[in-house]
Amino acid sequence: TNEIYYDDDADVSHIEDKTVAVLGYGSQGHAHALNLQDSGVDVVVGLREGSSSREAASEEGLEVTNPVDAASRGDIVKMLVPDTVQPTVYEQIRDELDAGDTLQFAHGFNIHYGQIEPPEDVDVTMVAPKSPGHLVRRNYEKGEGTPGLLAIYQDATGEAKEEGLAYAKAIGCTRAGTIQTTFREETETDLFGEQAVLCGGVTDLVKAGFETLVDAGYSPEMAYFECLNELKLIVDLMYEGGHMEMWNSVSDTAEYGGLTRGEEVIDREGMEEILEGVQNGEFAREWISENQAHRPAYKQYRQAEQDHQIEEVGARLRDLFAWGEEQE
Ligand code: NDP
Ligand code: MG
Ligand code: MG
Repeated sequence: TNEIYYDDDADVSHIEDKTVAVLGYGSQGHAHALNLQDSGVDVVVGLREGSSSREAASEEGLEVTNPVDAASRGDIVKMLVPDTVQPTVYEQIRDELDAGDTLQFAHGFNIHYGQIEPPEDVDVTMVAPKSPGHLVRRNYEKGEGTPGLLAIYQDATGEAKEEGLAYAKAIGCTRAGTIQTTFREETETDLFGEQAVLCGGVTDLVKAGFETLVDAGYSPEMAYFECLNELKLIVDLMYEGGHMEMWNSVSDTAEYGGLTRGEEVIDREGMEEILEGVQNGEFAREWISENQAHRPAYKQYRQAEQDHQIEEVGARLRDLFAWGEEQE
């Protein structure tokens, strides 16, 4: 099992004399930059000319410059532009990486699949919150933490780990716990999870359930509530107390039906194929060339999703009923 680190295992002083160049000021970028700044770490934000994020960063008292200048001043260069953009930004800033500097990521894709090949004399690490950026910031401001990951791909200085832990502490990740992993494990589990379970699996499960009911003549409104809206209530229970908390909260009929029938809808071989495509790099190659071609398939899939009946029904019902924040 992987090591887990907390505040007591980390010491921010390892990065107190360093400058962190945060490239990008989106979901993760703003959270890292602001949390580092509030933890007393020297931060410079690198954004391209005309970037829509420039003003927001300046308003928070952060120094903003271009990515090349930021990287040249940074001892730690944190890559927080979108993953598909990182190889291009890396080409611009690679000459600014001095021996002993750190190139740091929040996701392993570009290193693991060889899209970025850093020089041997820099540390290459990953400090990645397991959460969207706005929660990383919000939790930090409340004095709470966000679970995080730490991985060392290359340790040229011999100090990569204590520096990574210092960074994790400065953004609030060791308050909650930071798990040691590897670039490979993070990348492959992340891609598999979002494809098979979290994003792909769950939307397909919902659509298939919705379509099965609607095709059998049931009303789309009932199908929407049953297959999509109620999912949140079930997931909340699982999140709070695992599967048993959920089973304990639903009726015995729901529990027996679920336990005996759930397995039937899952295609384990399909899942294994998805994992293989992640492991052998087939998915990565497909996604890289899709981007090089300006995303023709992506646009089609997105449009089909947009046009699905469940979107129209959902939008209508969400307008008609008050739920969400107010209901909780
Ligand atoms: P975002 O999409 O939010 O990043 C947007 C930022 O990147 C903006 O500041 C944008 O500025 C800048 N940017 C976009 N295109 C370019 C470009 N061509 N050149 C220069 N800057 C550009 O990214 P995320 O925060 O979502 O992701 C950053 C990293 O964090 C990724 O590696 C991701 O995998 C990882 N991560 C993300 C999580 C999340 O929940 N979002 C969770 C954990 C990890 P501009 O105004 O110039 O476009
Ligand atoms: Mg992901
Ligand atoms: Mg993920």
